[in-house]
Amino acid sequence: MTETLQATYLMPATVHEALDMAAQHQGHCAFMAGGTDLMANRFQGNNAAPVLIDLTQVSDMKGIDQRDGYLRIGALETLHQLAKSPALSEFTMLREAAHSVGAPLLRKTATLGGNVLCENRCLYYNQTEWWRESIGYCLKCDGDICIATGGRNACFSELVSDTAPAIIAMEGEIEWVSPLGTRVQPLEAIYTGDGVKSKNLPDNAIVTAIRLPLYRNFRHSFHKLRERESLEYTSLTLAMAVDGQGNGKVAMSGVDPKAVVARWAAGALDKGALLKQLLKGARAVDNDMFTRGYRRQMVEVYLSQALGKVVW
Ligand SMILES: Cc1cc2nc3c(=O)[nH]c(=O)nc-3n(C[C@H](O)[C@H](O)[C@H](O)COP(=O)(O)OP(=O)(O)OC[C@H]3O[C@@H](n4cnc5c(N)ncnc54)[C@H](O)[C@@H]3O)c2cc1C
Ligand code: SF4
Repeated sequence: MTETLQATYLMPATVHEALDMAAQHQGHCAFMAGGTDLMANRFQGNNAAPVLIDLTQVSDMKGIDQRDGYLRIGALETLHQLAKSPALSEFTMLREAAHSVGAPLLRKTATLGGNVLCENRCLYYNQTEWWRESIGYCLKCDGDICIATGGRNACFSELVSDTAPAIIAMEGEIEWVSPLGTRVQPLEAIYTGDGVKSKNLPDNAIVTAIRLPLYRNFRHSFHKLRERESLEYTSLTLAMAVDGQGNGKVAMSGVDPKAVVARWAAGALDKGALLKQLLKGARAVDNDMFTRGYRRQMVEVYLSQALGKVVW
């Protein structure tokens, strides 16, 4: 056992108890849901928080119900539950996205909240401590340059959440709680575009739910590029949704530190302009199993396939 694996383990029963615990251990704690991302990062020496606050017993973060015109999905719902949930019959793209994550065993414990918040990844960062030490540390782990780009002063680690693009394409929102109260905002707003601090949430914020707007009659298309059809992070996920009025939105992960988003109004689709906007947002660098060039080419392929499916 290494030192980084030792921690004080706390298990609150309510959101308020969890917020109190986080306030007591401000700056020294991490929330944990399924732990599938957090524990992998701890094993690699990329997270050494001495206090872990396990959220899995917080009952008001579980369940799926309808409120104020939205389907509200508790942040602790597992990806396994979502992939087969009849409650998602209007949002089957989220089922598909949940099913595309990792492998069956992982989806049994991995949660929706943890998925939209999972840490950005990079081939030069998600390695063992001794591996990273041997090449010199990078910006995301105490170094002062980006190794993937040969020395740039910015981090391009990728957002790898597969559910985030699906939620964003369907105009989904994130609900989170901090000592100042509850806040709801479009999911895309939490991603900063800076791979070092990739989420724009207060340190002790707890994500309680994801909300999807009801009765929009979305048609949708979901695409994921990966080396194997199981147990593989995304190298490009593209999700597209067009509502009953013909308004469209496309969102991608795997090609930038943030979700890359583009939209069009009913009757105003310009495929060339859409592609240009997506490629401008996708600042992919060579820090993935697939090259930057190949992933950018696949943006056009998936865009064409998605438009062919949802626009007529
Ligand atoms: C082998 C392997 C394959 C994987 N493949 C994929 C893949 O294909 N696609 C994909 O998207 N991901 C993949 N992952 C990453 C990860 O398993 C998933 O993203 C998973 O959904 C994370 O959910 P979790 O509940 O386990 O999160 P955790 O590990 O518990 O938490 C992840 C992060 O979110 C924070 N957090 C979690 N819940 C909350 C909350 N409610 N409020 C505030 N903070 C919170 C934690 O502090 C942590 O920083 C893979 C992981 C492994 C190990
Ligand atoms: S993109 Fe650069 S700075 Fe970011 S994790 Fe990779 S090597 Fe490090």
